[in-house]
Amino acid sequence: MCIFCKIVAGEIPSNKVLENDEFIAFHDINPVAPVHILIIPKKHVENFQSVTPELMAKMTSFIQDVAKELCLDKNGYRLVTNNGKDGGQEVPHLHFHLLGGAKLKWTHL
Ligand code: 5GP
Ligand code: ZN
Repeated sequence: MCIFCKIVAGEIPSNKVLENDEFIAFHDINPVAPVHILIIPKKHVENFQSVTPELMAKMTSFIQDVAKELCLDKNGYRLVTNNGKDGGQEVPHLHFHLLGGAKLKWTHL
């Protein structure tokens, strides 16, 4: 079982922000911004390249709810998903990084 499936199963604790039947949002263990949330589907999907449009549509709505819950909708935020090796994906379970709480700089490579 992957590490995020263990979080879904409650085998690894997480600091949850929002949850419904299909998704969980929780604080990243190693934040790189004042607010750094990970948003995952409960179902194991490897990455963005393999998610169905149907699941992604529901996930979009959930991510918007998380941003609102944390009052990030007013000042803005960054939404990132690392896909595969070159994208720097370390956990092979689809997740979006929701980053905010400060004016973020743009970096690449
Ligand atoms: P990736 O590099 O795959 O896009 O991001 C994986 C993220 O998961 C990293 O930001 C890392 O800090 C976070 N992470 C890894 N293991 C855990 C964990 O057990 N709990 C939490 N909350 N975050 C984790
Ligand atoms: Zn998984």
